[in-house]
Amino acid sequence: MPAPPTPRRAAEEMNPYRIALQQLDHVAGILKLDEGVHGILRMPKRELTVHFPVSMTSGGTQMFTGYRVQHNTSRGPAKGGLRFHPETDIDEVRALAMWMTWKCAVVNIPFGGAKGGVVCDPKALTRAELEDLTRRYTTEISLIIGPDSDIPAPDVGTNGQIMAWLMDTYSMHAGHTVPAVVTGKPVAIGGSEGRVDATGLGVVLVTEQAFRQEGKSLDSTTVAVCGFGNVGGAAARLFHKRGAKVVAVSDVRGGVADAGGLDIPALVAHVQRTGSVVGFPGADAVSLSDVLETPCDVLVPAALQGQITGANADKIRARMIVEGANGPTTPEADAVLKDKGVLLIPDILANAGGVTVSYFEWVQDIQSFFWSEAQVNARLARVMKRAFGEVWAAAEMHRVDLRTAAYIVGVARVAEATLTRGIYP
Ligand code: NAD
Repeated sequence: MPAPPTPRRAAEEMNPYRIALQQLDHVAGILKLDEGVHGILRMPKRELTVHFPVSMTSGGTQMFTGYRVQHNTSRGPAKGGLRFHPETDIDEVRALAMWMTWKCAVVNIPFGGAKGGVVCDPKALTRAELEDLTRRYTTEISLIIGPDSDIPAPDVGTNGQIMAWLMDTYSMHAGHTVPAVVTGKPVAIGGSEGRVDATGLGVVLVTEQAFRQEGKSLDSTTVAVCGFGNVGGAAARLFHKRGAKVVAVSDVRGGVADAGGLDIPALVAHVQRTGSVVGFPGADAVSLSDVLETPCDVLVPAALQGQITGANADKIRARMIVEGANGPTTPEADAVLKDKGVLLIPDILANAGGVTVSYFEWVQDIQSFFWSEAQVNARLARVMKRAFGEVWAAAEMHRVDLRTAAYIVGVARVAEATLTRGIYP
């Protein structure tokens, strides 16, 4: 039996930027990527770190640190979410920015990749502090964001209200309203119909495509969802609506399970009332690892990165994993799951529904012409179906797993754009 990793080695293995680079290097070999282009794609184009004060409600000021990283803009303006989390750091933001570049290329929308983060616990801040923090961070990064350069969106710990404050702050500086500077805004100020559920809907749509390959439907399929936030909550609701049985869900505080299928609309109401899935009447209380290890057809990790690792991958009892979160599975876990025959639909395809409808929102804002929810969802379904088909075809052609195939599709498109534009000057 191998010796357990030292804490430092274990931390390195979990470093998301190391993982993102490892994934890129793997396909660079398969694609026989030009060495110069490979070097360009390994590094973020631009990184901004800001330290700024916020006046606290209880008196005094507190310093906060924030980041905005633009990985690549060869295919269009940088695009990516904004995360408020106490443990975010520059390497996490770099990895998330790189994953955004590949994701936008996989669904073939004209954006590059970016990500932002502020080291804070949004739940520990008052509403006034959260608003001031958002407005000051926006001002600090306004040097590099804009509707033509870099367009933020919600991610872990942020939501439509925070996007509204970001849009308002940017607009106040510009002297006029600039809705297209941010996506994931409320519909009342230029947000898109369908954006709130878009990532969860994308997860369900690619799962449906994978089932179709086997001649099956989602009806009576069993699903477990780890993380019951924007992505996981919507995915659970939409799986339930399509006749699937959601048998276990978790959030940061714990899990609940019911082998007969949870009543998801009632669970959503419980979460709205109490703030957590924990204590849902009639369901069994289970641990976070119980939910990950639930026997089911489909497991949707939808919390943070590093949920499925070399340490727990062999305990996974799902037939299929659909990555709602970014980077939930480490390369060590990928290898174990492949050996076990688990079909894994990777994050840069599975959760691309969010950025796709963000792209639709940006287009609608620029044109000042808005679409119905049915139009948005139909266009999203077309994009996800096409992207799934292209990734599936690449997997068959190169005889590789779906993560490698998605990287082949995404990285090849970004490399082509980089080479076609040429190296300036
Ligand atoms: P969120 O903050 O709305 O929800 C996160 C959820 O995960 C919460 O329910 C939280 O309690 C739970 N959680 C945290 N740690 C957990 C743990 N150890 N075990 C189980 N649950 C845990 O965030 P979100 O926007 O839903 O994002 C979730 C993931 O999806 C992130 O990786 C994010 O980058 C990715 N993502 C989000 C979007 C989007 O549109 N919001 C788009 C693409 C990808």
